Amino acid sequence: MTDIKNYQNQVEEIARKFKGIFHSTFQFIGFLTPDGTLTEANDSAIQFAGLQPADVIGKKFWDCHWWRISEQTRAELKANIERAAKGEFVQYEVEILGANNTTTTILFNLKPLFNERNEVYSIIPEGRLIQEIVDTRKELISKNNELSRFTTIVSHDLKEPLRMVSQFMNKLEQKYAGSLDDKARQYIFYAVDGARRMSKLIDELLNYSRISEKDKTFERINSLNLLDDVKQSLKQIILEKNVLVEISELPEIIAIKTAIRILFTNLITNSIKYSKSDIAPIIKIACIDDINYWQFSVSDNGIGINKEHHEMIFQLFSRLHSRVEYEGTGIGLATCKKIVELHHGKIWVDSELDKGSTFFFTIKKNIDA
Ligand code: ADP
Repeated sequence: MTDIKNYQNQVEEIARKFKGIFHSTFQFIGFLTPDGTLTEANDSAIQFAGLQPADVIGKKFWDCHWWRISEQTRAELKANIERAAKGEFVQYEVEILGANNTTTTILFNLKPLFNERNEVYSIIPEGRLIQEIVDTRKELISKNNELSRFTTIVSHDLKEPLRMVSQFMNKLEQKYAGSLDDKARQYIFYAVDGARRMSKLIDELLNYSRISEKDKTFERINSLNLLDDVKQSLKQIILEKNVLVEISELPEIIAIKTAIRILFTNLITNSIKYSKSDIAPIIKIACIDDINYWQFSVSDNGIGINKEHHEMIFQLFSRLHSRVEYEGTGIGLATCKKIVELHHGKIWVDSELDKGSTFFFTIKKNIDA
């Protein structure tokens, strides 16, 4: 008899604990029968809507206050409960009604529970308040679009006066060639060179800001062919600097073609730019299959990078050298990072000062998965 009593006490204790957790969690949680009747809802969910349990328990879930924000919301919930009743786990973001008809967004899911015959006997609806995340995300997207528009407009507007500067400097040089002394010619050279560098900076900034535009399409790309194109476009510097580019077998990938072309172009031009002066640059490009990703590598025998700088070089405008040593803008690797992230991958470098560098990046094979 005492055994049964003990057992009963233990069961009651567990039930009390379970109820405590069930009602005190910040998450909205309940139980549904497979036909969508709400059999339980925790205090958080009920209080959020300013209700009493009797207002909702025993009712069809889609008829309860939370979902009366629109007919579409109710119909969507009903359809999703039908899917969950067939055994599917359903998750989506949805706006619901709270007390005094205030609205908020929740991450909502319907989790089917199965009996030993593998039939759904109950569904757990669960919601988490994510309005803050949704607002921050919206704000971030709008700020990003604003910034992108700003960069594009500013870049376009800056190019025009810049063209005028170089054009008239060239005219000055041609027309007054005979009457200019060395100093004057040097000044003109500096002015034209400055305009050329600024134009490059603007082009690179434009490239950087355009990467995340939405109209990009993912397509099947033969990466070997793409690298041949890149090599072809860099033919002059490859010949000039006596560069050896070794490309091993490369896969077909699903990616944004223009972006991947910029990515390889930036990495290869860097390998050439940061090569050692006394040996011919050797660049090796390879790829390995890493389950869900393709992992590419671009390695060189150049000047290398100190370990402490391995992360900061991917930040916008960060450079390790002065313009006199190596010309550049500090935008190239930041652009590479943005491109790789657009393909749900990562980019990093393995290098030691004086021992060459290997840049690795991954590209997700199935972007939608
Ligand atoms: P930029 O080349 O215009 O300075 P990047 O963003 O392409 O800008 O590169 C950032 C910095 O990373 C460079 O200034 C350089 O110091 C270092 N770097 C990039 N690629 C290499 C490389 N292959 N070898 C050595 N250093 C490199």
